[in-house]
Amino acid sequence: MLRSLGFGLGLTLLLLPCSFPARGAQLKRYEYSLPRMGTIFRIELYAADDATASKAAEAAFARAEELEQIMSDYREDSELMRLAREGAEAPVPVSDDLYNVLAKSIRISELTHGAFDVTVGPLVALWRDARTTRRFPDSFDLAKAKALVDYRNIELDPTRHTVFLKHAGMRLDLGAIGKGYAADQMLAWLESRGLRHAMVVAGGEVAIGEPPPGEAGWKIAIDTADAQAGSAPCAIVLHDAAISTSGDSKQFEEINGKHYSHVINPFTGVALEGLASTTVLARDATTTDALGTALSVLPVADGIRLAESLPGVAVYMVRQEGNGFRRYASRGFPKGCPGR
Ligand code: ADP
Ligand code: MG
Repeated sequence: MLRSLGFGLGLTLLLLPCSFPARGAQLKRYEYSLPRMGTIFRIELYAADDATASKAAEAAFARAEELEQIMSDYREDSELMRLAREGAEAPVPVSDDLYNVLAKSIRISELTHGAFDVTVGPLVALWRDARTTRRFPDSFDLAKAKALVDYRNIELDPTRHTVFLKHAGMRLDLGAIGKGYAADQMLAWLESRGLRHAMVVAGGEVAIGEPPPGEAGWKIAIDTADAQAGSAPCAIVLHDAAISTSGDSKQFEEINGKHYSHVINPFTGVALEGLASTTVLARDATTTDALGTALSVLPVADGIRLAESLPGVAVYMVRQEGNGFRRYASRGFPKGCPGR
């Protein structure tokens, strides 16, 4: 969900650095956080001095703000919303960022046979209402919305850099890929300025650079669906990688006594039911964000098979089964989580 909580909050007010001396190195650790895209974004980095660190963090957050203005479905004047209004009349020229995110989205849709689909917008709107009113969507409305969902109806022209939506009423939703893309872009920005020992956390999407000086990697705690049921916390150490967890337990809503997620199964039009979390590990956070959502939708065995067929990708899933939880991991998921 790309909501904006950032309006009116000045950078100077919230960009409060905390610095810590790094062990055995000249570099110091800095940490910054700001609300972006309806969640909290955090940067951790190592730099030689305060000015270098805060200038870099400020610019990386400015990049996130720029991306939010492009991808938000809450801001009427975002590039995405303009595309929704005009894209079915004629091909619309778009920014590199929007083009790249849509091209990547379509690739993930193809890989997952539509389990991940950014044209899910009309269904998202319907389920947002259902979650507010706590009433299951009307079956006629559901069928109408579902008929507008199909990534194959997005036409990209790589030469003219345009996007065409084949049907009026289509609505694109980048809620399951935009934060990952932003995390990647922010980390790339920091790295291009020589700040390679860095990590960007965009809600549940994490883009990780080189390890902290003198350490093996960044310790990442994974928020699994069974955490509240008293399961042992799960943490792994990573560098030069990305990791996302889809299935935030706070995003579940009860309708007629059942828990529905904010992730929708595009094959049925119905929101996912039951508590679950899906953690994906890959090289970049755009991929982990989108795949995390797709592998939440697919049956567990299909998700594991898909992850194992993709180089550098691994998955760890927790699913509510009966009164308890079951954990599943693909080959290649690091040890450190229960069941691994
Ligand atoms: P989070 O936002 O908690 O990280 P996700 O990355 O799974 O969770 O994204 C969920 C959001 O993506 C939903 O709020 C909705 O906007 C959108 N969405 C829901 N289902 C799908 C889907 N099957 N494919 C693509 N986007 C989806
Ligand atoms: Mg996602």
